[in-house]
Order: sequence, then C-alpha cells, then structure tokens
Amino acid sequence: MDKYRLRDNMDEIIQRVEKARIERSEHHIVQIVAVTKYVGAEEIRTLYELGQRAVGENRVQDMKAKMGELDDLPIEWHFVGRLQKNKINHLIDLSPWLMQSLDSLELALELDKRLEKKGAKMDCLMQVNSAQEESKAGVAPQLAYDTYLKIIEETKHINLLGVMTIGAHTDDTKKIEESFNTTYKIYEALKPHGAEICSMGMSQDFELAIRCGSNMVRIGSLFFK
Ligand SMILES: *Cc1c(COP(=O)(O)O)cnc(C)c1O
Repeated sequence: MDKYRLRDNMDEIIQRVEKARIERSEHHIVQIVAVTKYVGAEEIRTLYELGQRAVGENRVQDMKAKMGELDDLPIEWHFVGRLQKNKINHLIDLSPWLMQSLDSLELALELDKRLEKKGAKMDCLMQVNSAQEESKAGVAPQLAYDTYLKIIEETKHINLLGVMTIGAHTDDTKKIEESFNTTYKIYEALKPHGAEICSMGMSQDFELAIRCGSNMVRIGSLFFK
C-alpha cells in the first residue's frame, strides 16, 4: 500500500480521535492501536515510520511471523484475538506489550499456570461481552466485576490493567452506545482495583466509544481503506 495514502488515512484518524476526545474532555487522552490483521509486515513498517507504535494482531501465528520480520523496530504489540489453549505458550514466548482479550477466569488460570512455568509475566485486559452476543467472547457484564477481582486474587503472573470490549454488532447506535456505557461503568468500578485502560471502539464506532469514555481505540480497516 502507498505510503502517502496510508499517511492520509492516519491523519484523518488522528484528527477524528482528537475531535472526539476533546468533546469528552480536554484532559482525556486516547491511545490508538492500529489493528494490522489485514496487512503484511511492510505496511506495519510504513506505519511505524509514520509514527504509529502500537499495533494489534488477532492471531498468534500471524503476530509471530510479523514480529519476526520487524524485530529491528521497538513496536508495541497488542494481542486482541481469541486465544486458544494450544497457543498460550506461543503467545507467552512472544511477550506482547498488552494482551487485550482475556475472556474468562478459566483462561486466566491456565495462562497464569503457563506463565509461572516460564517465569514470565503478562499485562492483560479482561474482555467484556458487553452486548451479550453469543458469537462474541468475553465475560458477561453482570459477572465482570467479580471475575476481574477473582483474576487478581487467583493469579500471580497476570497484571490486569483494565477492560476491553467490542461494541454491539448492529446499526442501532443506541444499542452500541449501551454496550459502551455498560463497559465504562465496569471500568469505573474497577479503577480502585488498578484498572487504567478502557479499550473500546473500532473503525465503525470509535468516536462514539471515546465519547463514552474509551481511552484506547483499536482501528483496523480505516487505516487501510
Ligand atoms: C479486527 C479487530 C479490530 C479492528 O476492526 P476494524 O473494524 O477493522 O477497525 C478491533 N478489535 C478487534 C478485537 C479486532 O478483531
């Protein structure tokens, strides 16, 4: 993909994020994670040259391959996909900057066990299934607070930094907003327990997410349109 086109897309994203964040508050800071699952290592290199450091992938194998090609760059790798049990050790070996998709207590306990064996630690977000969609991973909103505390209590090698959600899959803005408000409330309740990151908002809904309090957006297709 052409560097100039990528730069234009990036400029547009930054301006739109800037506008939405100021609507929330002048002091509200939002981090942009570029989700690069649609592109190869070359595009990620270009993004990095344009100033984008945080990059997200949703498959362990793809992330590993791209990390290998880009190991000369200090990119912040975020894992945002569903983690299968048989990929846990691979993910630990990649030592991601942030694992955003810890979607159950069971997965947390399994990950913690493997981290212990490898003498490693991992920064994670707990994924909330805020729209209660069966097709989506994550902890149900009504269980989210307790599950988050249980993960803190029962794991030693996972460092929970907040929550992540995918907005409701619908054209109904009210429903999407509801799912973001639900997640934001959980995040606020968890702040006294160390939650600092509320990761919500993708290409279709990031401005709404920011207005609802998101401080981390995960944007893919808008970068590469
Ligand atoms: C693909 C993906 C994104 C980015 O989605 P776009 O609609 O392309 O911006 C964000 N979060 C997760 C978890 C994803 O899988």
